[in-house]
Amino acid sequence: MPELRRDPIIGRWVIIATERAKRPHDFSKTAESPVDNPEECPFCEGHEHMTPPEIFAFRDDKTSPDSPGWKVRVVPSIAPLLRVEGDLGRRGWGVYDIMNATGAHEVIIESPQHITHFGKLSREQIQLVLKTYIQRIDDLQNDPRIKYVMIYKNYGKEAGGGHLLHTKSFLIATPITPKRVKEELQGARIYYGYKDRCIFCDIIRQEQEMGERLILENDFFVAISPFASRFPCEVWILPKNHSCDFYKITEEELISLAEILKEIMNRLETGLNDPPFNFIIHTAPFRKKVKPGYWKTLEWDYHWHIEIMPRLTRVAGFEWGSGFYINPLPPEEATKFLREGVNNER
Ligand SMILES: [Zn+2]
Ligand SMILES: [Zn+2]
Ligand SMILES: [Zn+2]
Repeated sequence: MPELRRDPIIGRWVIIATERAKRPHDFSKTAESPVDNPEECPFCEGHEHMTPPEIFAFRDDKTSPDSPGWKVRVVPSIAPLLRVEGDLGRRGWGVYDIMNATGAHEVIIESPQHITHFGKLSREQIQLVLKTYIQRIDDLQNDPRIKYVMIYKNYGKEAGGGHLLHTKSFLIATPITPKRVKEELQGARIYYGYKDRCIFCDIIRQEQEMGERLILENDFFVAISPFASRFPCEVWILPKNHSCDFYKITEEELISLAEILKEIMNRLETGLNDPPFNFIIHTAPFRKKVKPGYWKTLEWDYHWHIEIMPRLTRVAGFEWGSGFYINPLPPEEATKFLREGVNNER
């Protein structure tokens, strides 16, 4: 059973995935060769038997689960880091804290066809993928053990993409709010505390006025190069309308988000020669059964967003040791590059 261990000094939780690797040298073996042949791909339509039973799918009427006829399909991870069964079993062990790795770890298969890049999906298909994210978050919030749901993508080997190339995203639901997210929540709350405004709304306004880091905007979203970008060509996509919960997005916003996401993904792919990247949705934690006063102003001070991080540089010793990032490309330069775009097929 995997377990969650808390670093007693800085409070970071680590998933100790006991079932993933047996011996240290297993990690240095060459990775499994990439599956780019639809015949062998467990995520292609017609291969439903190659995955665990589906949790959810958008499917045609009169088709049954785990059979063809779906548009987006969600299955549990074959090697889950967290498991749905069991209680949290939170316990102390001297100075240490341990918890059972209770939660969910799901794979969102984004297309029945063997498409490997998110930007190649149609806008309508991206809308369905986003609707699937919403459905899953909405469903998981009924589980009282779960505090946070993170949706992310690992694309390409250097971004942890794995050997199955079929386009997909992952969902991890955790019984604690991850430290990175907590740091953002705290920063936003402090700003709200003395300015009485949402810092993200203020950033959007300032970036729209200044323009030098504004890549793109449409009806409901802006795409910017963050002022302190950690990676070359890092992109944040933020909703113009203030909201802390991604899953409460309106239908109109969803259409607008699919459009801007596709455009940004295509610009990264064509402009940077198909780089590996990570993509994460930062949204607010669930707010039921919280201690009184905990995250009291969250609905006003936090603003959900998407972070896209192309992995063009490697994180090295200094970064690991210091928490500093070294970014050799000023975000203002990255913006010029990403703004031009490359208008190939849409
Ligand atoms: Zn496939
Ligand atoms: Zn805001
Ligand atoms: Zn964030």
